[in-house]
Amino acid sequence: MAERIPVLAIIGRPNVGKSTLVNRIIGRREAVVEDIPGVTRDRVPYDAEWNGKAFTVVDTGGWDPDARGLAERIAAQAEVAVQAADAVLFVVDATVGITDADEAVVRILRAAGKPVVLAANKVDDQRGELEAASLWNLGLGEPYPVSALHGRGSGDLLDAVLDALPEAPDDEDEPEGGPRRVAIIGRPNVGKSSLLNKLAREDRVVVDDASGTTVDPVDELVELGGRTWRFIDTAGIRRRVREASGHEYYASLRTGGALERAEVAVVIVDASQTLSEQDTRIISQAAEAGRALVVAFNKWDLVDDERRYYIEREIERELVQVAWAPRINIAARTGWHVDRLVRALDTALEGWETRVGTGALNAFLGRLVSEHPHPVRGGKQPKILFGTQASTAPPTFILFTSGKLEAGYLRFVERRLREEFGFAGTPIHIQQRPRE
Ligand code: GDP
Ligand code: GDP
Repeated sequence: MAERIPVLAIIGRPNVGKSTLVNRIIGRREAVVEDIPGVTRDRVPYDAEWNGKAFTVVDTGGWDPDARGLAERIAAQAEVAVQAADAVLFVVDATVGITDADEAVVRILRAAGKPVVLAANKVDDQRGELEAASLWNLGLGEPYPVSALHGRGSGDLLDAVLDALPEAPDDEDEPEGGPRRVAIIGRPNVGKSSLLNKLAREDRVVVDDASGTTVDPVDELVELGGRTWRFIDTAGIRRRVREASGHEYYASLRTGGALERAEVAVVIVDASQTLSEQDTRIISQAAEAGRALVVAFNKWDLVDDERRYYIEREIERELVQVAWAPRINIAARTGWHVDRLVRALDTALEGWETRVGTGALNAFLGRLVSEHPHPVRGGKQPKILFGTQASTAPPTFILFTSGKLEAGYLRFVERRLREEFGFAGTPIHIQQRPRE
């Protein structure tokens, strides 16, 4: 269900034509390197697309002038590339042939075991094909003759690249069709079935198992705001015996199962009572499951001014970690403000599926790194080199770093990401891939 954009790293000696090839692949649609401040020159990611498949190209083109020997620099470059990528495009200059440096790269690539596509570049015409064939000797399989400069052979090369990458998302398709899947969860007696009854009262499309194949019998399809929604495991909500008899264990199993199948969770809490540990545990469970989240404070009809005061304090104290989740105050029994649920669900799902373009993300990261560098630890200063959003639902970011970022700094990055790009109603996952 979640999209995952694969990463292709381009490596090769200087002057073999990597930048030219990258420009050909991305069709020069994105900002050139110099326009992205703060991002290390030698590892810049670009959004690319071929045959409707999206992937991220990481150009490892530049060379660190401070590094020592050529072999070491090549090794370092290849290792970063391998770490960062799902597949590697290794570019060799066919007019020069195989050099020692190329062979050093091959050893690293072979050890890493990532899929490799070999480009024999600067094959500008038919005659060059012969030179390209000599690159079979690298032992990396078929060399794809290409002219990055003129475009010759680039279609076949990109076809091979797509084959090497893990299943890339198809840009034309929605992640998954059908009604949105909503789980209503919460501890016993907060008002889950009351809400469900209110929502389903007149517009219930399918109640039970009679309809057979298309609808899972434990779900209900409900029409809200002109659209159909699938409420997950409503049978479990209605079958109240176990919960009522205090078997919290079964309740939490049900919650886990519902979350598993849902896209968005509505956690109901009883606003007339102090937030309990069980409430906050269920809220965390939803966020940790990577689902979009709405928190509904039910039984608002029982909330007076004094209680309202305490609720605000409880929210500040207990719900800071999900401060991004839309909150609604409702009274399920009377239906008061229940109509606000749809807007909250839409907000949460929109945040959940937000994708930030690689260019915008790295412009943002560049600013963040220069304005708020990571604190120095033990004489070293970890640094974000670049990032990509690997998937949506929930938004998942991979940061390629030098050194390991501290948890506090990662939280800071998350906070700034939210300020910059929104992400209301969704947890954000941030993974780092440090290069030591
Ligand atoms: P990088 O250092 O690997 O990024 O290499 P560049 O992309 O900067 O290219 C180095 C030089 O090779 C430039 O002068 C390019 O114009 C040239 N070049 C790149 N691709 C080709 C090609 O397919 N054919 C020819 N004849 N020259 C190329
Ligand atoms: P569940 O166990 O979470 O499904 O909770 P129920 O929907 O069965 O509700 C538990 C109790 O809370 C019932 O007595 C409901 O009538 C009551 N209740 C539900 N919603 C409201 C509400 O908005 N206001 C008030 N005052 N009571 C409610």
